Amino acid sequence: MAIIEDTKQSKARKYMALEEKYGAHNYHPLPVVLKKGRGVFVWDVDDKCYFDFLSAYSAVNQGHCHPAIIKALTEQAQNLTLTSRAFYNSELGPYEKYICDYFGYDKVLPVNSGVEAVETALKLARKWGYQVKKIATDKAKIVFVEHNFHGRTLGVISGSTDEDSRREFGPFLPNIKVIPYNDVHALAVAVQDPEVCAFMVEPIQGEAGVVVPDAGYLKKCFDLCKDANVLFIADEVQTGIARTGKMLACDHEGIRPDMVILGKALSGGVLPVSAVLADDEIMMCIKPGEHGSTFGGNPLACAVATAALQVIKDENLEFNAEYLGKYLRSELEKIDHPMIKLIRGKGLLNAIVLDTDDPNKGWDICVKMSEYGLLAKPTHSYIIRLAPPLVITKEQIDECVVIIKKALSHF
Ligand code: PLP
Repeated sequence: MAIIEDTKQSKARKYMALEEKYGAHNYHPLPVVLKKGRGVFVWDVDDKCYFDFLSAYSAVNQGHCHPAIIKALTEQAQNLTLTSRAFYNSELGPYEKYICDYFGYDKVLPVNSGVEAVETALKLARKWGYQVKKIATDKAKIVFVEHNFHGRTLGVISGSTDEDSRREFGPFLPNIKVIPYNDVHALAVAVQDPEVCAFMVEPIQGEAGVVVPDAGYLKKCFDLCKDANVLFIADEVQTGIARTGKMLACDHEGIRPDMVILGKALSGGVLPVSAVLADDEIMMCIKPGEHGSTFGGNPLACAVATAALQVIKDENLEFNAEYLGKYLRSELEKIDHPMIKLIRGKGLLNAIVLDTDDPNKGWDICVKMSEYGLLAKPTHSYIIRLAPPLVITKEQIDECVVIIKKALSHF
């Protein structure tokens, strides 16, 4: 038995050692090596099965390897994968129409990663600021909020307040104003500056620890932006595509952002596919040659994204997220444990906030949960995000709550 255990351990250890030796050390993963995923489950290299409660940071909303998405991927991969935008292709136009109709915008600008879409939105906002709002050359400002997470490029971290993301990466972009999140008054003051072209916000701050603003915050911010002729940009890379129980998290407050940024689940976790949606007044500010990407709008991505969006509708995943999210929170709230300070979230984007000063506690609890067959990752040391694929069932949630309880009982 001891020998079998040792062989098993050394298999996982071998993969971890390779990453350690040959990969940059810019991540700190849980010690689990995954090789397969289906629906809400993933398996490690020793064939142990886990519930996936991270969903690749909400990229796998439709579940791992969804058959309809994989079918679209494999069929398209045998015909045409990439043309670049030097030529038209037979998938892009139909996809653009599909996604514009789906979300109700005039136009889409397709790119690849989430952060690339955020950069694209920032550039579009500046163009609009000069061409439409008539801000003087190079004076346009953008308002961000504290504790945001919009990705890792230099432009985007210029608006970050996270020291780990910024330290020794300066100098940063100028003309950025950062205000507190969930503070309407701060925005009211900021947008009085006529050089402000846009306000960039996550409807729920995912990486900050699933921070849900007060009801009405987004609507009030949206109204302030309208009054001041400032673009309201919603970064829905993590919250969008049914994760919070509505197609977009902004739908909870009945607002239609001037720009919507999507990524992650836009491909169901199959490829990097992201997009910015906006109306013509904004989108037509960009002319040929001013912005682009070799892979943006490639036929493979278009086929996959169309299938991924269709799955959300076909399987009514908005409803599942809304209904099972409420159920998950109510079951978690019943757990009587001194370390649980708060359960929060919307739809199936949730978090347990721990009552602890121990910087290792979140990590230790996640390691224990993994031993019992559930994978989650702390965001900050004391917040555990719980975001399973939206295809999860009520019975599976029950099983997972038992696992979470069992893991917590060790602390
Ligand atoms: N915006 C938000 C709200 C995110 O949560 C993330 C990633 O977690 C990003 C942007 C960046 O996306 P990507 O990692 O695909 O660049």
